[in-house]
Amino acid sequence: MRMITTVAEMRQWSDHERRRGTRIGFVPTMGALHAGHLSLITRAKTNADVVVASIFVNPTQFGPREDFASYPRTLERDVDLLAQEGVAVVFAPPTGEMYPSGCITAVRVEGLSARLEGAIRPSHFAGVTLVVAKLFHIVQPHVAVFGRKDAQQAIILQRMVRDLDFGVELDVAPTVREADGLAMSSRNVYLSIAERKQAVVLARALQTGFRTWNEGERKSAVLRALMMNVLAEEPAARLDYLEIVSQRTLEPVAMVRSGTLVAGAIRVGKTRLIDNWWVREDGTGEF
Ligand code: AMP
Repeated sequence: MRMITTVAEMRQWSDHERRRGTRIGFVPTMGALHAGHLSLITRAKTNADVVVASIFVNPTQFGPREDFASYPRTLERDVDLLAQEGVAVVFAPPTGEMYPSGCITAVRVEGLSARLEGAIRPSHFAGVTLVVAKLFHIVQPHVAVFGRKDAQQAIILQRMVRDLDFGVELDVAPTVREADGLAMSSRNVYLSIAERKQAVVLARALQTGFRTWNEGERKSAVLRALMMNVLAEEPAARLDYLEIVSQRTLEPVAMVRSGTLVAGAIRVGKTRLIDNWWVREDGTGEF
């Protein structure tokens, strides 16, 4: 496995591979890897000849009072895990390599970026689209794999790729969960033992909604009320939002049908956690 830390070398490697006809798969991450990240690598391998994983804690997607400084950084362990997974290249640039003279250019997906997470983290998605656009230009992948856990991020990036004609195929992989249902997240390490027990309430609430939907209930108001009842069982978990929206517009919908996203965010102690379930275009659901 090759470790690359400069833009020039990464681009050169990709240019060379593309000329040879290699299909490049790409998994962007912020490191502190867990089984959710590794599932994206496995998925990328099935759809590409080689896989590049990036590790970059991107400062532009953190708000001024958010956890950029304390975000877990476990580079050595991450590199070992990626080597075991058979990744061809780890691209881990220092911040100054990605933003040598700051950045005064914006990549903003209007509207979608202001809903749900964007209502609470106003500059978050502008940072995400900026860094992913830069990484796509540097790594030049044929296919990039993202996690459904960050459903709004995947929806926004799909729109960016379409609007700006990136020649990159996006693949969105299912959420990997702990045994009790909690969605895996690098931020779960912030949770104390007591908070870890409280945090699972979001997955429990969403799962209750998902089960009831599978039993035939379609009304958003009924499903939301059921999920809110479960959330109320854990007063230590503070709700940021629980919304039932169209995946196309991220605007609320009255009925949960094909193309609906049910997304929630809670705070437990100082930790913010998100999770969701959704209904595919073919009418099947996924939690
Ligand atoms: P992050 O390192 O948090 O920026 O995440 C990197 C990628 O991993 C993103 O595409 C995430 O959506 C994805 N990801 C994070 N957690 C999970 C999970 N539990 N299951 C599947 N994918 C995930």
